[in-house]
Amino acid sequence: MGVDPWLPTSPPRPPTVLNEPSSELPVQLLIDQHTKQWDEIKLAAYIDPSDHYLIRKIYLPQTDESDNYLWNLTTDGQYRVKSGYWQALTMTRTEDTPQTPLATTPDIAANIWKLDISPKLKHFLWRMASRALGVADNLRRRNIHVNPYCSICCTELETSEHLFFSCTNSIAIWRTLGISTTMLPDPAIAVDNKLMYLFNIHQDHSLPQISRYASFWLLWYLWKSRNNLVFNHKMMDQNVISTQILSDVEEWITNTSPQSDEGHEVHRARSQGTKWTPPDQGWVKCNYDASHHDGDRNSGLGWILCTITGAFLEAGMGKFQGRATIEESECTTLIWAIQSSWGLGYRVVDFEGDNSTITRLLNNKMTNPCLQHYLNTIMAWCSRFTAIRFTFTFREQNSCADILSKMAVDSNQLYALFNVCPMFLYLVVNSDLTFGS
Ligand SMILES: [Zn+2]
Repeated sequence: MGVDPWLPTSPPRPPTVLNEPSSELPVQLLIDQHTKQWDEIKLAAYIDPSDHYLIRKIYLPQTDESDNYLWNLTTDGQYRVKSGYWQALTMTRTEDTPQTPLATTPDIAANIWKLDISPKLKHFLWRMASRALGVADNLRRRNIHVNPYCSICCTELETSEHLFFSCTNSIAIWRTLGISTTMLPDPAIAVDNKLMYLFNIHQDHSLPQISRYASFWLLWYLWKSRNNLVFNHKMMDQNVISTQILSDVEEWITNTSPQSDEGHEVHRARSQGTKWTPPDQGWVKCNYDASHHDGDRNSGLGWILCTITGAFLEAGMGKFQGRATIEESECTTLIWAIQSSWGLGYRVVDFEGDNSTITRLLNNKMTNPCLQHYLNTIMAWCSRFTAIRFTFTFREQNSCADILSKMAVDSNQLYALFNVCPMFLYLVVNSDLTFGS
């Protein structure tokens, strides 16, 4: 256990053993022979704690498989002459770690004009950031005597912070949109910081488009809704607002060309449409996705089963120690999705994920030494289904599973199963139903 390089690091290395004589012991000792899982007590007894998370990232198949070697310098673990030659050439080079550039000073205004949103919204955000909106707090600072309280909850003073982020009404709408609301409702955090947070989300291309764009339309509708109440004495219905936000975001995304910084990948995904596609007649579809994190951080997994009309059936999310690669995380998620679907009684299932490598490997029955244990497990499960298929989709059409896997990482539960659609998925599931082609 302390001699062979078996940890999933780059390059692989042996773990640090706590006392030298145990170096020669077999790794098998660290595996609980009944559960086929890593034995935490043995890990604690033999291995330095800083290496535990790396060991937990290694998948242990539930059936006995023989050991083999992996070539670490190709993605599939198979040795190629070209790769070996390249390694030989670079072996003498010193490794220089790339430096992360320092974050630039946040500049709210500059960030607003860079956003990929309508000019109307940019102007609105700019007024909000420069305290020019006619909320009670701003007006009173200019000695205009208006009712200082929030017209919606009537309990707190109406500041921009309160109206847009911490009013109970607003919190409910943020939740519906599935935007992680840990810091947004905190009244102690300044509006500027919250806006910066939303700008960062907007730039994060790994998130579903709806999460990246919806917050700006949400702020706009909160403002419209507030004005409608103050001036017309009409309260807008939350569901109407949510649906309106969604349809506006849809319209914006479909009708604008991608910004130059977004690259052709996004362009291609967009041209495919952002819609989930229903399974064939007689099938249910299970979308799955992993939210992979390197290092000693949890990864998330999520899956969701829907009918041919896009109606919600079941969903699950969970967090786990993670794996060494994205492909391994995706395989782990798929295995859980398959087991859950089977356990829930579904026998004709289309498993759809956004990792093309995995779908290709499964459909072409190809081998891949790095993933072989996973592929074998998946193939073994296939025979239990009446019909099973694996399809690839773009990330944009896999947004429910994507949201679940990301929510799982932030959740304080280890895993959760849903037999009714959770609120944070409601809008996205609903959009597949309502706006689907
Ligand atoms: Zn309020």
